[in-house]
Amino acid sequence: MTMVIRLAAASAAVLVLALAGCEKGTPEGSGPVVVAGPPATQFNWKMVTTWPPNFPIFQTGVDRFADDVRVMSGGELDIKVFAGNELVPPLQTFDAVSQGTVEMGHGAAYYWAGKVPAAQFMSAVPFGMTAKGMHSWFYSGGGVELWRELYEPFNLVPFPMGNSGVQMGGWFNKRIDSLADLKGLKMRIPGLGGRVLDKAGGTPVLMAGGEIYTALERGTLDATEWVGPYHDQRLGLDRAADYYYYPGWHEPGTALELIVNKGAWDSLPERLQRIVRVAAMATNLWAYSQFETLNLKALRELRQEGRVNILPFPDEVLVELRRLTREALEEEAAGDADFRRVYEAYKAFRADNDAWNEISDDAYHRARGLEGVGG
Ligand code: CA
Repeated sequence: MTMVIRLAAASAAVLVLALAGCEKGTPEGSGPVVVAGPPATQFNWKMVTTWPPNFPIFQTGVDRFADDVRVMSGGELDIKVFAGNELVPPLQTFDAVSQGTVEMGHGAAYYWAGKVPAAQFMSAVPFGMTAKGMHSWFYSGGGVELWRELYEPFNLVPFPMGNSGVQMGGWFNKRIDSLADLKGLKMRIPGLGGRVLDKAGGTPVLMAGGEIYTALERGTLDATEWVGPYHDQRLGLDRAADYYYYPGWHEPGTALELIVNKGAWDSLPERLQRIVRVAAMATNLWAYSQFETLNLKALRELRQEGRVNILPFPDEVLVELRRLTREALEEEAAGDADFRRVYEAYKAFRADNDAWNEISDDAYHRARGLEGVGG
């Protein structure tokens, strides 16, 4: 109680001094200076993304993040979000933030594989870690530190911000019974997954989300991957192909990224930096939980409708794809020192993560499965 009164008295005294100063018209820089705290600087930032406007979770998560930051900072850090093409084309997000045209961006690190091949480990590599492993590696296993080193030359500070969970293997217009069924297959599948398909005799095609449905429906494509049951159903892919394969061996837990221009980041007081860091972490968890929840609802609907055959890839196909993935990763590492360095760190963490999962998650799921699913 005493403390409160003393503080109130002190505040009143300060107020009197300040008013006295005003009355006397004390010029700036002379007389007693009363400072209640550091002056609040208003930061009005722009943020661009690689996603279409209102794209569920991907873009809506970014809108939510900006709102969190604005409210938590009492309006001091106001981030105006622009979806892909609203300010810059989606795939110029990296450059726009790197050059300081805008302060922030959101996308997925494997989009920048042409500039930073090793960045692919910060989003998804075939037969890599799932969300659980990625989160552990990023936050507690040195992943984010490696990521910062990779982006440093580009004037960027990266943060994990979203994870799709295990994606689906994709939509096919025929059954896949052996590796031979992938030969000659024209499939929309980006990144290293596409490289692996190419090694398996297929033809990877790069195509934006908006064109996939028509291409698959008209037979321009034989197959496509997209995200998971929720986003795939939303795109109408369940009406364009009969076979829906799992798992998404090529994208086992795709991480999304927040990138901040280094100069802009350094200009923020520590308090606002912490708000951004914590809001990104919260968005990471929010997005992952949204993917998981909306996917399981969409899967239930697809099963209830019963029109689509939902099938696992045969073991023989997965074993071959994994072998080809190792080849592709080794080839990439042979030509890029950063890729090699990050690959080795990633592999070491994944090996430990696998060993632990074997007697934790995997063993637990087996235990639950002994009497069948449920209960
Ligand atoms: Ca995908």
